[in-house]
Order: sequence, then structure tokens, then C-alpha cells
Amino acid sequence: MFTAITKSGQIISLLSRPHDPFLVDDKSPFFCPACSERVVLKKGTIRRWHFAHQNKTNCFSQSEPETEEHLHGKSVLYEWLTTKGFSPILEAFLPSINRKADLLFTWKTQTFALEFQCSSISTEEALQRSSDYLSIEVMPIWIYSLQRLRQKGKGRFSVQSFEWTGLRERNIDSRHALIYLCPAAASFYYLFPRAMPSASFLYADVYSLPVFDSPVEHIVNLPPTVNGPVVWNSDWLHQKKTWRFSSSQWRGKPDKTYIRQVFAGYRSDLPFFPAEAGWPILSMEIFRTPPYIWQSWLLLCFLPKLPLYQRFSLRMVIEALEPLLYDNTFMIRDLPFLSSPIEKAVYFYLELLKHIGILTNTGSGWKKINNIILPLSLEDAFHMDKKWSSNIFYKGTLD
Ligand SMILES: [Zn+2]
Repeated sequence: MFTAITKSGQIISLLSRPHDPFLVDDKSPFFCPACSERVVLKKGTIRRWHFAHQNKTNCFSQSEPETEEHLHGKSVLYEWLTTKGFSPILEAFLPSINRKADLLFTWKTQTFALEFQCSSISTEEALQRSSDYLSIEVMPIWIYSLQRLRQKGKGRFSVQSFEWTGLRERNIDSRHALIYLCPAAASFYYLFPRAMPSASFLYADVYSLPVFDSPVEHIVNLPPTVNGPVVWNSDWLHQKKTWRFSSSQWRGKPDKTYIRQVFAGYRSDLPFFPAEAGWPILSMEIFRTPPYIWQSWLLLCFLPKLPLYQRFSLRMVIEALEPLLYDNTFMIRDLPFLSSPIEKAVYFYLELLKHIGILTNTGSGWKKINNIILPLSLEDAFHMDKKWSSNIFYKGTLD
């Protein structure tokens, strides 16, 4: 940490200016602002100067030694906010929730806490931290170390489960992104999910912007972007094949077990899921249940109950879906900073069905104009997947 309390109770920061660490050194002993235990000034050459607890500590603000990456990130963010005219509080201790924010600042009457997260934590811990901040009306913004971002191929990334909880939303068009920071390059990186075929990886567009050229709006509301080209269309077809072949692995999975029963009602089975299901749409990251399953539900459980040309609303779909979410048949992610992500995912899927001629949009709702026909063989299924793929990937449905 960069801040400590002196014997006289004065808070000193190694980042505030004008600053002279030699003068700071004269003011020892130092104490931790959170737990009041002794801290010492570490004048290292590898890690920048910082304070660390003198003895092994149970201090919640420092459960593990602070890395250079974390110190560097905090100092870049502090300098950035300062040059933008803010008065950020470094390592702000919030006694009412017993938390220490890396940086706290106020913009347009809203107070924000920046969490520069380098190490892995549990999803529960991340959600608890966010909810603690929200309980005192502080909006947390999670910024992850760029070292956390794992690229697995062209446009393909993996994101750890807890990182999803920091997903932010752009006001103007409800697009989502995760924010990363590379302190050494002084750059923000924005990961905009485009499609998520499985719980372990996603296709995304990444944009980098220099920190010091970025207005604070970019981390609060996300920067404006245009979609990158879709380079993963053939990967997606391959993914659909994988789903059709991996259908035997359903034991212990409530979503698969449930949808298999639905297919049994049609005297069919998972490998023959409709070719109109299992497509990428925006906001799909809210679902942990694979897209071919929840989309098959819409095609085989919701739509068949409606006669052709009868109008229905998004609300009706959501009401039919909700019981399956409440009892965890379909699994979703806890994404506290998004507004109505399930509604959005379903909406975009209805729009996709409109695009491929299953539905029409009347302006005041949707109407089914074609029935779904289940593939009779795997060959038939692959053929139809291919047909829809060229329709979906090359005609602008994904923009
Ligand atoms: Zn402490």
C-alpha cells in the first residue's frame, strides 16, 4: 500500500505531490490505516516503494503481499484521475463495510470505488465486495490486470468465473464489456463479448486506449466502439457439431436432463436439437446453460403452444422462462451491473428468429410464421446448421 498513518495521526501517501520519500522516511513509525498495526516503508528496487505490515497480519486490507503489478496499477490510476481534475482518495478505508477501495472518487454526485484486481478471488468474494460497496451507495468499477486476460486463438478468450461479475454496460446501446489495465503500457483494454459457446471461453472484440487520453466516462459508461469482423463463424459450426456429439454427457446436469425430457416428448434426442437453436446473440453471457439448450426450450416448449400468426410479447417469453431460472434448471450468472440481461438475451434471440424467417415482428410483439422441424438425422442437422450459418453470419444479424 501507498498510504500509512504517522505517530501524530497524519495520513501520508507515497503518491501525493510534491513528494519526497526521504522526508516520508523521517516520520516513522507508520501504522496501517485499516488495522492500526505497525507497517514499514519498503524501499525496494524491484517493487516500487510501499508500506507493508511489519508482522504477519490478519489485516483484511492485506491478506497477501502486494505485487508490483498492483502497486503500479494503483499509481497509474491515481495519477490519471488526478490529471483529469479529480481528487481521488488512495486506498480509502471504509469502516462501515470494513473494506478498503484501491481508489475512491466522485463524479457527477456518484462516488465510485476502483478495484484494480490482479489476483484470483472467488466469485462469492467478488459479489460480496460489490454488494458491500453498493450498500453504502458507492459504485464499484472492477478493473482487471491485463495479465489476467487469456487469448486462446483468433478473437477467442477465456475469462475466469469471478471476472464476469465486473461486467459493465454501455448506456447508449446496452453493450457489455470487461475492463483491463496494463500499468506498464498505461493502457486500458476493453473486452466486448460477441458470443459465448461454452462456460470456459468466449469470442470477443478487444480495444485498447491510452489511459491518459481516456475520459472517466470510458470506465463508467464504456467507450464507443464499432464491431470487429466475425472471424469465428466456422468455429461456431464446429461448436454446433460438438454439441450434437457430446449429448451423452447429461448426467448431473439439470439443464441437459430437463431438455432431454422435452426432446423425448418429440420422440427425439439432444443430437437432433433444432438447427435454429444454438446461435450467438448479444447478452448471451448471462446464461451459463449452453445456448443450444435454452434456445431449444424457446423453440420446443414456448413457441409450439402458440398458433401461427398469434401475437406474443417478450414479457410472455420471460414469464414462461422464469420458473426454470428460479429452480436452477437453467443456470445464469450473477452480473450485478447489468440491467435486464435475460430480457436482452431473449430479445436478441427473437430478433435472430425473425431474421431467419421463423418469426415476424409486428411492432407490438412477435408472431410465429413458420413451424420448427426437428432434423431427422445428424446429416440433416449438419446440413441445416450450415444453411442457417450462412444466413446468420453473412447478413449482418450479429451487428
Ligand atoms: Zn492493516
